[in-house]
Amino acid sequence: MFDNVIIIRYGELYLKGKNKDYFENILRDNIRAKLSDLSCKLYFGRGRYVVKEYDEAIESEIIDRLKHVFGLHSLSVAQRCGYDFDEIAAVAVNLAPRVGSFRISTHRSYKKYPLDSLQMNKALGERILESIDGVSVDLHDPDVEISVDIRESGDVYLYTSSTPCSGGMPTGTAGNGLLLLSGGIDSPVAGYMLAKRGMDLTALHFHSYPYTSEAAKEKAVALARILKEYTPSLKMRCVSLTKIQEAIHKNCKPNYMITLVRRAMMRIAEIVAKAEGCGCIINGESLGQVASQTLESITVTNSVVELPVFRPLIGMDKYEIIDIAEKIGSYKKSIEPYDDCCTVFLPDFPLIKPTIEKVEEQENFIADYAELIREAVNNIEIIEL
Ligand code: ATP
Ligand code: MG
Repeated sequence: MFDNVIIIRYGELYLKGKNKDYFENILRDNIRAKLSDLSCKLYFGRGRYVVKEYDEAIESEIIDRLKHVFGLHSLSVAQRCGYDFDEIAAVAVNLAPRVGSFRISTHRSYKKYPLDSLQMNKALGERILESIDGVSVDLHDPDVEISVDIRESGDVYLYTSSTPCSGGMPTGTAGNGLLLLSGGIDSPVAGYMLAKRGMDLTALHFHSYPYTSEAAKEKAVALARILKEYTPSLKMRCVSLTKIQEAIHKNCKPNYMITLVRRAMMRIAEIVAKAEGCGCIINGESLGQVASQTLESITVTNSVVELPVFRPLIGMDKYEIIDIAEKIGSYKKSIEPYDDCCTVFLPDFPLIKPTIEKVEEQENFIADYAELIREAVNNIEIIEL
């Protein structure tokens, strides 16, 4: 009979003081929602949760989904049995290595169990030594540690390994942020990092149709769907920059193109953020990565908004960002070839050290600038994820 359970551990750092119930309730709701369409039972105990009574065929699906829930620290697949010692011992023998060393670590939440933890460790250890030739006990550095968890419910769980989960804070505990989502490698990672801290996200993607293709937009949508696995409340909006870019191209010096486009993006982002109830803007900038990400460039793009702008990747190297992109499953999508609105009307020599005065001077050459921004926002498109 298949009698596995999945033991889930959550980070306890935030579970202090008065906030404990608040965080725990949200975390439970998030787990429930994530598994709602799968046939299984959830038990929420102190310090750890357990998934029970599921079919073997969906075990890996449950594990994969739990790895996408922020706030969970690790999980273990355990074998379940009752309080009968022989039954427990049979499972322990089954889990023990055939060669090498082992240790038993018993944890007893059911304090009335006839053997205490130490007696249980000893009795199970002896049973394994009697049953398997060529294994030994090593209390300090064993090849296999067999954990035995005697629960108050009448269940005993035995397991030998644990798998790390995503960590972080439960989604829905850190406010809302507007993520500027391109089709590149960096911005999905930036979104992931703040989602991991519990923030709900609205993704905003800019396109320059027909200069950029429908496929470029679809790629950003695909990336948003990957992020949504981690942060199910994710929403997405799209705004066209075409007219603004054409106006910049027509009226301003070519080498100001990127700087001016990025300021337009930030202005639109702030309006959208406020309309969507977002308290910050998030982007994937990394210091010095490209001309638009020097201190001077960031200063002039940041100066058009009041909301805080979070740049979780600012101090990271590209390969460090790629590592995370691979881990969260966005990398393969991100490296598909695509065109971005930042590459439309790209100058040969973009400004590396723009100043606010000179940039404003260029913007003033566009007579209907404010109207163009308003129009872009009014034509915002809601994307179903
Ligand atoms: P990425 O890999 O995220 O595209 P990048 O190295 O290409 O980053 P830039 O093109 O300068 O860098 O963009 C910096 C940030 O600006 C991106 O990380 C993203 O947050 C935002 N951004 C760029 N293009 C777009 C877009 N088309 N729509 C929304 N946000 C964008
Ligand atoms: Mg980009």
